[in-house]
This record gives sequence, C-alpha cells and structure tokens, in this order.
Amino acid sequence: MPTIAALLKNADLPDSPSPRVDSEWLLAAALDKPLSYLRTWPEREVPAEAAERFAASLARRRQGEPVAYILGRQGFWSLDLEVAPDTLIPRPDTELLVETALDVLPASVTARVLDLGSGTGAIALALAIERPAWRVLGVDRIEAAVALAERNRQRLGVRNASFMASDWFVGLADARFALIVSNPPYIPSSDPHLTQGDVRFEPRSALVAGDDGLDDIRLIIDQAPQHLEADGWLLLEHGYDQADAVRALLIAQGFVQVRSRTDLGGNPRVSLGRLASNLPVPEEGGDAH
Ligand code: GLN
Repeated sequence: MPTIAALLKNADLPDSPSPRVDSEWLLAAALDKPLSYLRTWPEREVPAEAAERFAASLARRRQGEPVAYILGRQGFWSLDLEVAPDTLIPRPDTELLVETALDVLPASVTARVLDLGSGTGAIALALAIERPAWRVLGVDRIEAAVALAERNRQRLGVRNASFMASDWFVGLADARFALIVSNPPYIPSSDPHLTQGDVRFEPRSALVAGDDGLDDIRLIIDQAPQHLEADGWLLLEHGYDQADAVRALLIAQGFVQVRSRTDLGGNPRVSLGRLASNLPVPEEGGDAH
C-alpha cells in the first residue's frame, strides 16, 4: 500500500495554483483525518479505499472543480461551513466586510442586521456568533442557498440568525435594519477571469452584475434607505477598482460618513455609508482610508 508521503508526491494537479495544499486537503478528507495527521504520519500506509477516494477527488480537481465543492466544506472566519454549487464559495477577502460590520455598531446594542445575498450564510453567521445581542437576517434569491445557510446555522447552533428567500429587498415588506451588509455580485460580464479557475464552477448569478459589475450595487444603494433605521449603516463589498464608483453612488443617494476600507493587500474592497437622519451628522469626506 502507498504511504501518505508517496501519494502526495505523486498527486498530479498541473493546472491548480496550489497543487500541494489541494492534495493535502483531498487526502485528509479521503482518510477522514485532519490535515495535521498527514504531516505527523507521512510514512503511514493509506488503505486502498481511501486511496481510491483520493484518486477520484484528484480527477475532479484536474477537471477544474474547486476543492471546496469536492469537499463540500470551506472555512470562513472561525466557521466550518457546508458549501454547494448553488452558492459562491466564501472567500477570505470577505472577512474585511465582517470586520467592518463589527466596527460600525456597538457590540452591546440589540441591533437588527440584514445580509443581502447570504449564500452559505458565512457573513450572517459570523456576525451573529460575534455579536450575540444582534438579530441577523440573511436573505437569498436562491431557495437552495437558503436551505444550505439554514443547515449551517443549525449545525453551528446559532440562535440569533435566520434565513429566508428574497430577491434583494423584495420579500422584506417595510422591515428596517440598523445595519445592512452585502457581498453582491460585482464582476463585469466581460471580465476574462470568469473563464479561468474556480469561478467557472460557481453560479454566474452570484458573480456577474452587468457591463460594469455595478448593477446589483446600484439597486441595493437605491433601495437601502427604505430599509434602514435612522442613522443606519450600509456596507458593501466590491471589486478592487470599484471603490470610487461605489462611494459616488452612496453620496448621490444621500448617504453620509461615506468611506472605503482597504484589505491587507492595500485595495479598497469595502465601502460604507450612513443614512442621514434629521440631525446633522459630521461629513468625513470620500477618501479611502
Ligand atoms: N471576489 C470574487 C472574485 O473575484 C467575486 C465575489 C463577488 O462577485 N461577490 O472571484
């Protein structure tokens, strides 16, 4: 029987940007062991059944399928989430949106929070876990995504989050929130990245938003004021080159304290604004920082 080390050495993933890590995750899953097991016991022999499961997973990965879909699992924030091809795979980039949301409202307030396009539930569940006093609602147009997020909620035992089907604000009647967050689709339809790598396997509706990628962001900014409490915040993830456009849209819609936050790579990837109440609110200008 081949050893762990031999199987990893011979795993051939020529098109993957991360062949070693991919192989490790797939072999650990085939063995039903944590990653640390592979590194601790490289000389252990792998039973034939596990080796076959590993070979089948490698074949899928060679066809380009994302590791997260093969495993049906993806880590995000502190959470281990079930993922499925009905939704976007949660990305580390989106942790900036979570961090920003945690910063804008005091932890202790009993705030109502909305996550638009909740997908796996990653953002809503991270916020609910970090802020037990908040009540977080995640909505998604895709019923299968709502069911997936609900499974994640139940498995993680999160009581202050819930999920329902809604096409953006359509199903929300006149509900209002102190904070609305969203990682909407924002890729321009002609972006060449859509034909490369993992995104080919993700739902186009979760990625693409019109010619400039801003169709859904425009709709959300347009309609958010009807669903925000006075002084409520709107936070949006967007592409690295869309911050100026998103801040301009927020300002044009009358949001104040409009600004962007940069990720670890220095790119502005989240923009936010506050609904102007009747009271004067200090303007912080539109500079990214
Ligand atoms: N950041 C993702 C990507 O570039 C897109 C996520 C999104 O459209 N919301 O692959």
